[in-house]
Amino acid sequence: MQLRFVGCGDALGSGGRLNTCFHVTGTRTNFLIDCGASSLPALKRLGIARDEIDLILVTHFHGDHFGGLPFLLLDAQFTRRTRPLVVAGPVGIETRLANLMEALFEHSSRTKQRFDLSVVALEPEQTRTFGEVKVTPYPVVHGESGGPFLAYRIEAEGRVVAYSADTEWTDMLIPAARGADLFIAEAYYYDKIVKNHLSLKTLEAHLPEINARKLVLTHMSEDMLARLGELPYTAAHDGMAVEL
Ligand SMILES: [Zn+2]
Ligand SMILES: [Zn+2]
Repeated sequence: MQLRFVGCGDALGSGGRLNTCFHVTGTRTNFLIDCGASSLPALKRLGIARDEIDLILVTHFHGDHFGGLPFLLLDAQFTRRTRPLVVAGPVGIETRLANLMEALFEHSSRTKQRFDLSVVALEPEQTRTFGEVKVTPYPVVHGESGGPFLAYRIEAEGRVVAYSADTEWTDMLIPAARGADLFIAEAYYYDKIVKNHLSLKTLEAHLPEINARKLVLTHMSEDMLARLGELPYTAAHDGMAVEL
């Protein structure tokens, strides 16, 4: 399997990076994790076939993780997609998605598509299976608006990928990421402690307990991006691929 960082930026475009969107592919799997506002042009830039994506997992309803969906669905309509698509995310996703589509492209939430679109609400700590992909969401902590917020532990083709989503430290990240082949963790600041986001120093203290095989940092602010050359960890960049 391979995970491609289609976009690994924050909501503010720090470092000129694109909004969060990860593409996971294997012999029998093809899905996205998050679909931030810039995702459609980012997918096209990398030459990724949108009509082969079976599943989009959404961590929360902030625009830099969720705002690309109306564009992707419009693209699916105009490219005459026929392959079914599942969009899964936190409770409330059906209404959130319809409202977002209406705000961006009026009437688009009621357009009859040629493909089956299933919008699925995920409950924390309840594992769901979509084709070959087994998904367990964990509740995380990211403020008052744009939630519920979910980290994901995803098992496919004998590999485990975990993604923290945007969150301040919560012990939920331990079962979410323990022993994962790849743990993608937010590292918004280096050592500054803020509400709703994770700093590298806080994360670092828990890494032995999490014991993931590979860690990749994402969703970095300018503060973190300025330190990229001196970090003892792998940091994501747009377009980066990780083999699993
Ligand atoms: Zn974000
Ligand atoms: Zn967020």
